[in-house]
Amino acid sequence: WTILGLESSCDDTSAAILRMDPRNCPEILALVTEGQEALHADFGGVVPEIAARAHAEKLDLCVSDALTVAGLGVDAVDGIAVTAGPGLIGGVISGVMCAKGLAIGAGKPLVGVNHLAGHALSPQLEDNVPFPYLMLLVSGGHCQFLIVHGPDRFTRLGGTIDDAPGEAFDKTARLLALPQPGGPQVEEAAKSGDPVRFAFPRPLLDRPGCDMSFSGLKTALLRTRDATMTERGGLTRTDRADLCAGFQAAMCDVLAEKTRRALAECTKRGIALSALAVAGGVAANKSIRAALEGVAAKSDTRFVAPPLRYCTDNAAMIAYAGGLLLMDGQRDGMDLSARPRWPLDRSSAPMLGSGR
Ligand code: ATP
Ligand code: FE
Repeated sequence: WTILGLESSCDDTSAAILRMDPRNCPEILALVTEGQEALHADFGGVVPEIAARAHAEKLDLCVSDALTVAGLGVDAVDGIAVTAGPGLIGGVISGVMCAKGLAIGAGKPLVGVNHLAGHALSPQLEDNVPFPYLMLLVSGGHCQFLIVHGPDRFTRLGGTIDDAPGEAFDKTARLLALPQPGGPQVEEAAKSGDPVRFAFPRPLLDRPGCDMSFSGLKTALLRTRDATMTERGGLTRTDRADLCAGFQAAMCDVLAEKTRRALAECTKRGIALSALAVAGGVAANKSIRAALEGVAAKSDTRFVAPPLRYCTDNAAMIAYAGGLLLMDGQRDGMDLSARPRWPLDRSSAPMLGSGR
C-alpha cells in the first residue's frame, strides 16, 4: 500500500507519501512541509483565517512536490489519508476538500484521520514499537497520556485540565520578550540559568491521578517577572535565564511525576507495555526528554522519542495512521466532514471512523 497523506490542522501544510510494510516500519518516500510562521509572526499567535487561506493555497503544491520527490504519479497511490480533525476548522476543511478532490479525480479510497491518532502512532514511523505502549502527547495544543492499543483503540489516562505545555512555553517567551515559537528560546535561555533561584509551583502533584495543569505556572512566571522588575528596575540576561530555568524545571518535574503515575496505572491494570513514547513539539525539549527517560529507566520500560520531524505536525504520521485504517478495510465517503473537536478515547466520545 502506497499512501498519500495530508495535514493542515494548525499552521503547517504538509503532504507525505509512504509505503506501508505490514511487518516493518513504513518507508517514507516523501515528506514536504510548508510552515506558516512568517505569516503569523506579527500577530503573536496563529490567526485561523490566515492559516486557512495559506493551507488552501499551499496544499496542491505540497502534494505535487511530494509526488515529485517520491518519483510517483498519483495513479501509483493506493489510498489517500487526510486529517479530518481536531484542529482549526478552516485548515481542516481545506485539507479534507483537497483530499476528496484527489480521491475522486484519481479514483482512490479515502480515509479521514484523527490528528491525535497521527501523533499517537508516530513512534512506529521509525521504531518497532509493538502495541500496547504508553504515549505522552505533549504539544502546543495538547497534553495527554494515552495507552495505544491499536490504530483505532486508545485509552486516555489523563491530561491537562487547562493549557498545553507548548502554550505555556510560548507564553513564557512572550512575557520575557523572547521570539516565537517560545519553546526552543526558553530551552536555550534555561541552559545558563539557575533552576532554584525562583520558586515555581508544581501544580496538581498533591492530587492523585494523571491530570495536569499548567496555567498556574504561567501566572507564577508573570508574578515573579513583575516582582523582579520592580525590585531591580528591569530584567537582566541572568534574570531571564533563571526564570526560564525555574519554569522548565517545574515543567519537567510535573511531567515526570505524572508519567510515573501513568506507568504505575498501566501496571495496576495489568497492561504489559512495550514502551513509553513521547511525541508532540514539546518532546523536542532535551530536559523534558531526559526527565522522561529517567522515569522510564527506573521502571525498566523502554523509552522511545521519534525524531523531531515526526514529533511536530507532519503528514507522514497521518499517512501512516490512515494506511493502517485503510489496510484494515476502513473507508470514508464524500460525506467525510471536518471536525473541530474529536476526542480519541472511545469511552469519552465516538471514535475514529464514526459515521462510517
Ligand atoms: P497541536 O499539535 O497540539 O495541534 P501545535 O501544532 O502547536 O499543536 P506542535 O507543532 O506539535 O504543536 O508543537 C509546537 C509547540 O512545541 C510550540 O508551542 C513550541 O513552543 C513547542 N516547542 C518546540 N520546541 C520546544 C522545545 N525545545 N522546548 C519546549 N517546547 C518546544
Ligand atoms: Fe499536532
